[in-house]
Amino acid sequence: MQIIDGKKVSAEVKAQVAKETELLKSKGIVPGLAVVIVGDDPASRVYVNNKKKACELVGFKSEEYALPAQTTQQELLDLVETLNDKKDINGILVQLPLPEHLDEKQIIEAINSIKDVDAFNAVNVGKIMIGDYDFLPCTPAGVMEMLSYYNIPVSGKNCVVIGRSNIVGKPMAMLLLHQNGTVTICHSKTRNLNEICAGADILVAAVGIPKFVKADMVKEGAVVIDVGMDRDENGKLCGDVDFDDVKEKTSYITPVPGGVGPMTIATLMKNTLKACKLQNNC
Ligand code: NAP
Repeated sequence: MQIIDGKKVSAEVKAQVAKETELLKSKGIVPGLAVVIVGDDPASRVYVNNKKKACELVGFKSEEYALPAQTTQQELLDLVETLNDKKDINGILVQLPLPEHLDEKQIIEAINSIKDVDAFNAVNVGKIMIGDYDFLPCTPAGVMEMLSYYNIPVSGKNCVVIGRSNIVGKPMAMLLLHQNGTVTICHSKTRNLNEICAGADILVAAVGIPKFVKADMVKEGAVVIDVGMDRDENGKLCGDVDFDDVKEKTSYITPVPGGVGPMTIATLMKNTLKACKLQNNC
């Protein structure tokens, strides 16, 4: 069993982004990311702080817009519109989830698709479907980067993704398919889930239930990728995979923390750099 070290891979990705940023800066171009947070959800605050730190590390300009929980839809739309027009901002990220009274879908669609570095809006999702994209969604792309780093082949493998959300499960399945995996997507209505998972060469868990994947769901020698960011019974951060129960059966496994999480932020930096290059024709 080998642990996939997301911290190490993400550090290398960010170092590469920093190198390319230096080059851009020598031409007078500085990539800029705007992060919008509405309300005071503590988890969102941690994610936003981590994104800001990553921007500093790679040499980007970052702007944070922290809006009160009672912000109206129109106020948020106006801010997105302002950021769409701002020349020194190449990427716009609206931290989800938004407070319930706001229409998340409309906000995501308002972001100019060339600044949609999360790749959540319909234009970018459509481009991913046809395999002709500018940006990949950060978490699934981070997973693919880790597989590639560890030379784990996907082509022809049985890949099972548990979860079908728009931000993780569906695009994850699509990226595995692009790499010629034979992909099964499971969800809460899936029958015989354990058996399907136990047939996976590559099993990706994006369920949101702590320690959901147990040893009887894992094939001997499988690669197990844990996207979950959950809290266990003691409030400690854990994943969707019961790491201790499962690890000995796997050939490779991602830990939580230190697995997929850092890769998500590294991909966001890659996407922002790409957005900057596209917008400056370089
Ligand atoms: P989500 O929108 O809640 O989706 C969860 C998915 O799991 C749904 O498709 C749901 O099925 C499925 N599911 C729920 N219970 C199930 C069951 N008993 N059996 C099989 N499938 C079941 O969650 P998400 O946004 O995709 O996030 C998933 C996890 O990833 C969370 O822990 C989240 O915190 C984490 N996450 C981590 C990162 C990162 O950077 N590491 C980024 C994003 C998310 P239905 O569709 O049928 O309801």
